[in-house]
Amino acid sequence: MLGVRSAEDGQVVYLDRPMAAADVLGVVPADIEPTRVLRFASHCVSACAHRRGNDCTLVERVRTLPSAREERSVPRCHLRGRCQWWQQAGVSACHRCPAVTTATFREDTLATLVADPATTPEQLTAWIAASPDGPGPDGPESRGTSDAASAGTSR
Ligand code: SF4
Repeated sequence: MLGVRSAEDGQVVYLDRPMAAADVLGVVPADIEPTRVLRFASHCVSACAHRRGNDCTLVERVRTLPSAREERSVPRCHLRGRCQWWQQAGVSACHRCPAVTTATFREDTLATLVADPATTPEQLTAWIAASPDGPGPDGPESRGTSDAASAGTSR
């Protein structure tokens, strides 16, 4: 498990050290989907739909999102030394990472677009610009995005 989504703003609060998913799933109330409140990491796999060569295209779409965190330090995250997104995109990935959720929920169009390997960063930029909320700290970034559609990433 990578972290827990804050009830306040939905952003992920990272754990200091990894915990096995099996050790925490039992404490999530039965009426709450664990993927709504917990953020899980997984290993990259060769057959991942987001893989292009050695790169993860998912982080390219995630980096398209506006970030409310660019003036802040990167989150403390136990995965950094092994994180594909960090290796590929550095602090810009970490600034957006707390808004990423484990699962895509049907009602969240932006998360669905980000999780879709067929979406280009240019399409995302256009969608965000046309969104009623617009880009910015209170716009699409705060609604979160998902990395669950990937067969495997390192976050
Ligand atoms: S991008 Fe990787 S290193 Fe950065 S916060 Fe997310 S999981 Fe941690």
